[in-house]
Amino acid sequence: MTGLPPLAGNPLVDAQGRAITYLRLSLTDRCNFRCSYCSPLGPERHEEPLSRGEAARLISIFARLGVRRVRLTGGEPTLRRDLLDIARDASGTPGIEEVALTTNGQALHDLAGPLLAAGVTRLNVSLDTLDPAKLADLSGRAASLERILAGLTAARTAGFESVKLNTVVLRGFNEGELGDLVRFAWRAGATLRFIELMPFGDGQPVSLAEIRALLVAQGIRLEPDETRSWGPARHMRGASRDGGTPVSGLVGFIGAMTENFCEGCNRVRVAADGALRACLGGRDQVALKPLLRDGTPDQVIAARIVEALASKQERHRMADDHGGLLSMIGTGG
Ligand code: SAM
Repeated sequence: MTGLPPLAGNPLVDAQGRAITYLRLSLTDRCNFRCSYCSPLGPERHEEPLSRGEAARLISIFARLGVRRVRLTGGEPTLRRDLLDIARDASGTPGIEEVALTTNGQALHDLAGPLLAAGVTRLNVSLDTLDPAKLADLSGRAASLERILAGLTAARTAGFESVKLNTVVLRGFNEGELGDLVRFAWRAGATLRFIELMPFGDGQPVSLAEIRALLVAQGIRLEPDETRSWGPARHMRGASRDGGTPVSGLVGFIGAMTENFCEGCNRVRVAADGALRACLGGRDQVALKPLLRDGTPDQVIAARIVEALASKQERHRMADDHGGLLSMIGTGG
């Protein structure tokens, strides 16, 4: 915190003693994809997102409370015309050491280089299938596998510190291509993480235990690698053959439902509507947008953040509280 003006309650620690150092900021609740497990069905309602200036101010307040990493997410963050400005503001904020982005990859071909220049060093790209027709079925006709793959190539060429692929496993949809997805990721120089479906939309989940068994059945040998586990993902070392050539790399597993990682949670989320959400799988939220707009000083906003996180629940309630969950497309995963 040296050099940063201190704010109340600094640094952020929740009631469980977990230090909160990672902000996930959703820049929009709009998306050019319509993934049925993420988007709510029915008529679309959109909230006015935080402006560039409001986002920058919030990031600065969080940084002064001890947050060191920011992930820009959505909806689809690349739909924001001022994304590069927001990324530049975030990476230039004193105290912020890392800016990352989560995207569906559709616009990455043109944006990879500019994002890196704006200070984004890590990318997560969602990729649930390698079959263009299945992708269109799941995510809508705007979704183009060809563009996503071109985006991944552009990201690799640009030289990001890390490019990860995120795959949500859906029963009856992609269980048959898990091995192919992993081999694809390794060829592309990326690590793929399998995400257990959380109950925000449609689709039937597949547990992490079953995902590991499916990988083995699909030709991926897996070995534990406890040294390589960070964030919510547990990693295993994997090896396989790709058209006769040996290939190997890491595989990540994020099991919000069956292999819960709440005890290590260091996150806070701000949804597209400016609501602070201490837990992705909870109901509680604090509306920050009105405070940012009515002249409330930084100290007071910081105090509200500290107060909200002090009562962050010990574990998420996704297994028993479906009806009360806030939207995934607004919160940003
Ligand atoms: N549009 C961007 C993207 O596609 O990555 C960012 C937002 S999206 C909400 C962030 C992540 O949440 C994606 O990796 C997506 O697959 C994941 N996600 C969405 N709904 C989910 C669900 N019900 N269960 C698990 N992961 C989900």
